[in-house]
Order: sequence, then structure tokens, then C-alpha cells
Amino acid sequence: MLQYKFCFLVFVCLHLFCPDLSAQNSAVTIETVKNLTQQSCDYLDETNYEKSLKKSGLALKYAFDLKNDTLIARNYNIIGINFHDLGELDKAVFFYKKALFYAEKSNIVSLKTMITSNLGNLYFFEKKMYSEGITYYKQSLKFGQQQKYQKEIAITNLNLVWSYFKIGNFKEGLPYLQYINEHQNDLKGKSDDIALNFLNGMYWSHQNENRKADQYFLKALSQNKSVDDKQDLSYAYLEYSKFLDKIGKHEQAYDNLVLYNKITDELFNKSKLKKASKAGISLELAEYKRHIEKIENEKTSQTQSLKKSRIIVILFILISFILLFLIVTLIKNIGLKKKHNLELLEAKEIAEEASTLKTQFISTISHELRTPLYGVVGITNMLLEEHKELSQSQHLSALKFSARYLLSLVNDILQINKIEENKVVLESLTFNISDEITVIRNSLSFLAQKNNNKINVDIDEAIPEYLIGDKLRLGQILMNLVSNALKFTKDGEVEIIVKLNKIEGSFHYLDFLIKDNGVGIAAVDQNKIFEKFVQVGRKDEDYQGTGLGLSIVKRLLGLFGSSITLESDLGAGTSFSFVIPFEHDPLKTRKIIENIEVDLTSNDIYKILIVEDNLINQLVTKKIIEKNNFICKVVDDGFAALKILEKEEFDLILMDINMPLMNGFETTKRIRLLEIKTPVVALTAFDKDEITHEAVSAGMNDIIVKPFEPVKLFKILNYLITESKSAKNAG
Ligand code: ADP
Repeated sequence: MLQYKFCFLVFVCLHLFCPDLSAQNSAVTIETVKNLTQQSCDYLDETNYEKSLKKSGLALKYAFDLKNDTLIARNYNIIGINFHDLGELDKAVFFYKKALFYAEKSNIVSLKTMITSNLGNLYFFEKKMYSEGITYYKQSLKFGQQQKYQKEIAITNLNLVWSYFKIGNFKEGLPYLQYINEHQNDLKGKSDDIALNFLNGMYWSHQNENRKADQYFLKALSQNKSVDDKQDLSYAYLEYSKFLDKIGKHEQAYDNLVLYNKITDELFNKSKLKKASKAGISLELAEYKRHIEKIENEKTSQTQSLKKSRIIVILFILISFILLFLIVTLIKNIGLKKKHNLELLEAKEIAEEASTLKTQFISTISHELRTPLYGVVGITNMLLEEHKELSQSQHLSALKFSARYLLSLVNDILQINKIEENKVVLESLTFNISDEITVIRNSLSFLAQKNNNKINVDIDEAIPEYLIGDKLRLGQILMNLVSNALKFTKDGEVEIIVKLNKIEGSFHYLDFLIKDNGVGIAAVDQNKIFEKFVQVGRKDEDYQGTGLGLSIVKRLLGLFGSSITLESDLGAGTSFSFVIPFEHDPLKTRKIIENIEVDLTSNDIYKILIVEDNLINQLVTKKIIEKNNFICKVVDDGFAALKILEKEEFDLILMDINMPLMNGFETTKRIRLLEIKTPVVALTAFDKDEITHEAVSAGMNDIIVKPFEPVKLFKILNYLITESKSAKNAG
């Protein structure tokens, strides 16, 4: 049969198409596998299937070891041919397809050409599945044409002609026949010549060109003595017999049929032998197939585990890299952190420095502003007192108002700054809540009258008479809230309500409510107004605030551990409320009161020395002192003070702090060094808390902050002078 020729071709071609593959790092070399493959081919040639399969099985195992796809494909093909030959068609298909898979992988065209051709033979001639067979032949032809394998192309064309003619499709088969007729030289086997001639015979017979057909048949049969493969010859006899029968030469047809049968018998006997040898190994075939499959499975699982271990290695490397990266980042971060910490430290220092500078700046500015303001307020007062006729002057009252306004602004800024710097500590003073509120009410009565407002005070009777706490700060809070209420209410009512909320131990919690029925505050503004310098809904004519009042209130309440609640409706009024706990301790209270109750009234005429460099301030202070019938001398600086003190004795010294040449502290220190015990009171525009420590250590007895209430000054003067005189007398 035709297909055997082509299988044989495979063996011959093995060496030709085997690519020169370099040896791999293995005990078995490619050469060894090639040799084994060749041996397997040789055994197959001898129809020694057992040995052929053994050799190809071993070659296949090694080919897998070497991962050589070409040799794997080749050996699968040999195994396929073995099974094909032995009639185990399904197994043959199985191995051919494997061979084709690896041939595709290695992309060796010659191999693909052979294997598809073998598959075509198997389907067409053995399984009689003609269309599958033709499909594989066509594939084979396509591969062959890619590499211009002339002989393979010719044989496949021959196979295709035979296939189409076999199914009676002469039209489809004709182009292939024409091709071989034109390329006869490519067919080098005699068996192929027989086939070509009898196929031409068949064609012309079909075309009813009997003379031509007869010639071709006779040419085919003329080769009969010299061919080994009788298969094609037998077919030639059969087809010729059919032709003779068709043209009415029945006797000759019969003779040819006899010859056909003779050859077929011969072939049958041969195949019987083959079958016998097949029977000998048939039992082993199934086992063999399993064995071959196992080889591949093993390789696959080896490859998989290799892949797995590769993945593990890659993962390991990856994790190591990540760890390394993390460590490097960590080290860098530590470095950065250190750097960052240093930067933070620097930033902190800068911030602290800035904060100190800010405090210093505010304190200096306050001082510088307070000093001239002291003069302005003092002189305005003097003018009003000395020239009673000017009391109605609008200019003068405007001047007084402006000076007071500026003064309150400076004080407010200073206070906010102090609270923000955490420099404010609440004091414990005894007070009566009604008295405090009365003082506030009285001092704001002018404002109430101005806007035609009534102030109603309602104090819970359950509140003890005396409480202990920072009454000055409470006064400040109430002052701000009540004055706002009075400012933003016209022809209305302002209520100050204090109720006892609860008692916890010695602490009495007081509810404060400051309520008005004035303009109210829009909801959008209610949060804003507690910020610094915020004023809303203010008309120019009402210009009486700094926008710091509520901000101070909020911060002061914070010191009390309290917070403010605001309820307001535009046009309906506003109410502010908060709770403050005050201590109530009768024993403590009595002690504090006893200490305060000192008789400060005196009709004596005292001699006061004023040390002051600012001429206006000299004038103002001197006027205040002399107004109280005290004798007073003024010197411009510390040295002058020391000089005068050597000669004259004074009852008290009022000492300015900020002076050129020698400041107030230094002057006082030197006075004390001279053993002069005269009380020294610092009269300064500095904030009291700022200088207390330095003043005391310099030997000063008290501090009065300018501008001051004259009454307050005389209270202190009287107290200190009386004390020093009694000490002197005692001494
Ligand atoms: P100022 O010192 O200018 O009064 P505040 O901080 O005390 O500043 O108040 C801020 C703003 O809050 C005021 O300009 C005003 O618009 C509003 N405000 C405060 N209290 C009242 C009130 N009782 N009624 C209406 N508006 C008020």
C-alpha cells in the first residue's frame, strides 16, 4: 500500500532532518538518543516491533530528560508507526498526535509533513474515514510546500490522487495527478511508478479514453517482476481487471483478477505472520503504552515540581529583596527621624524664641503705650478738675473717652497674650457676689442711661454671703458681657441672674445668665464672635469695642474650667450663660477679711519722693500726690534719687522702672545698700506680674501700675507708711 512507502521514508529521513542540537548537561547525550532512535527505526524496518518499541521507548525517556522536543516527536512517530503496522489503530493515532504536538513545538517542518501524512494514511486506508484522511494529506502537503520537499510533495500528491479516485471524485483528484505527471522525476521508487501509471489508467478509463487507459495499465504492470512491495501491484491488477471488464474484455479481466488474488494471498500470508508476531507482543502493548504515558507524566510532574521550586526560589528572593528594602527604608527612616527630630527641635526653639519675642514685643508696646496714656488720662482729669467750666466740653470728653478706649485696648491685648502664654493664675479672694455685681452695675449705669436700658439683678438667696475665688476675673467677665448687652440693646432690659446650681463639698456652683432684649446675633455669626477682633452688626456710631471682649471672656472662663453658652435670635435678644464653682469656707473667709480690715485713713502729711524721667508723668503724679496734701519732690533719674536721699528723708519713694542711666530696680538695690529703709513703690506701666519677682528681690515694697486709681495709690501709700513708721518705732 502507498502509506507504507511513506512510513519507510520517515526512517530514511531521520538523519537528514535531525537538527544539530548541542549536547546538554546530562549523562545521556543527544548522540546516544539519536543512535537509539536510529536503532528503533532499523528494527521497525525489519518488522521487529518488540525491539523497535523498546529502543524508541528508551530514546523517548532520554529525549524527555534532555527536553529535546524534536527527538521526542520523532520517537513518538516511530512508536505510532509501530502501532499502525500492528493494527492498533487507536494507539497509533494517540502516538501520532503526540508526535505532531511535539513537532509543532519544535517547529520542524519535515517532521510535521511526515506525521500528518502518516495520519492521513491511517484515516484513509485503515479507518476508511476519507475526509479526515484527505484533511491530513492536505496539511502534510502544505507543510511540505513550505520547505519545498519535492519528494514528499510528490508522494502526498500521489496519496491525494489515490484518495479522491478511491471515492470516485476524479475531478478533485485531477490537479494532483497532473502535478505528479509533471514531476515524475521526484518519485524515485518503482512502486510509486506502478501507482502513478495505474492511477492514470483509472483516470482515462473514467474519461472513457480506453486506449490511453489500457496503455497506462500495461505500463504499470510491466514493472511486476522487479518490485518488492507487491501491494501496489495487486491494486494495479485489480483496477485493470475492472477496466477490462468495463470495456467487455471479460476473459482478460478474469485473468487479471486471478493474478490480483494470487498476490493478495501472498500478502495475506505475510500479514498472518505479522499477526503471529503481533500476537506475541500484544499482551505487552497495553503495558507499553502505559509505560510511555508514565514517562511523559513523570516529566510533566518533574517539570511542575521544578516550576514550583522555581517559584519558591523566586518568592524567596523576592521576600529577601522586600526585607532588604524594608531594612534599608527603616535605617533611612531612623536617620530621617533623627534629622526630623533635630529639625523639630530647631523649629521648637525658633517657635519658643518667636513666642518670647512676641511676649516681649507686646509687653514693650503695652508699656510704651501705657506711659503716654497715663499722661493723657491724667492731664484730662486735671483739666476737668481745675477748669470746672470745661466739664461740658465735648472735645474734652471725646479726648477722655479716646484715651480710656486706647487704655482698655492695650489692657485687653496684654491680658489675651497672658492667657495664651498660660501666665494667668487664678487668685483666691473673698467676695460677696451681690457687692461685685452692684459695682459692675454702677460703673455701667452711664452706658445703661445712654441707651435707655434698665438693669435688673436677680441673685439667688441660697448663695452664701462670702465666697472665695478670683473675683477680679469674674468681674471682668461680667463687665464685658453686661456692657455688650447694654451696647447692643436700646430702650430695653438687661438682666443679670445668678442662681445656685449645686453644692459639691465646699464648692458652690453658680449659674450666671446675662440676658438682654436687644438686636440679637445672627446664627451665622454666633461662633465667630468669640474670635479675636471680631465685631459684627456694629454701626459706626456704636463704636465702643475692640472685638476682644468675648474672646477674653471665653479664655477667662476656660481658666475657671467653664465654657460659655450663647442663645440669640436676631431682633429678639441675646443671653450668655456659664457656670463657675466658688469655694465657700467660713473659716478661711474670716481670716482673709481680718487681714484686709486695716485702718488706712490718716490725716498726716507725708513726704514723697517721685523718681520719674517722663516730664508729663512727673506732672500728673505730682498733681495727684499734692492734691492729697502730701509733700512731693521729683527727680529725673536714679542717680539724682540716691543723691537727694543722702541729704533728705522721705516717708515713701515712688519709683519708675524704665529710666535711662539706671533703672528703678537698680536704684532701689542701691538705696537698700545705703541702709535706707524707706518704702519704695514701683510706679510703672509694666504689667504687675511681669516685674513682681524682680521688684521684690530689688527690695521694693509694692507695685502700682499706671494709670492707676488715685484712691488705690493712697490706700497703699498710707498702709506702707504706717507700717514702716510702726516698725521704726518698735525698732
Ligand atoms: P467688642 O469688644 O467690640 O464688643 P466683643 O468680642 O465683646 O467685641 O463682641 C464681639 C461682637 O459680638 C460685637 O461686635 C457684637 O456684634 C456681638 N455681640 C456681643 N454681645 C452682644 C449682645 N449682647 N447683643 C448683640 N450682639 C452682641
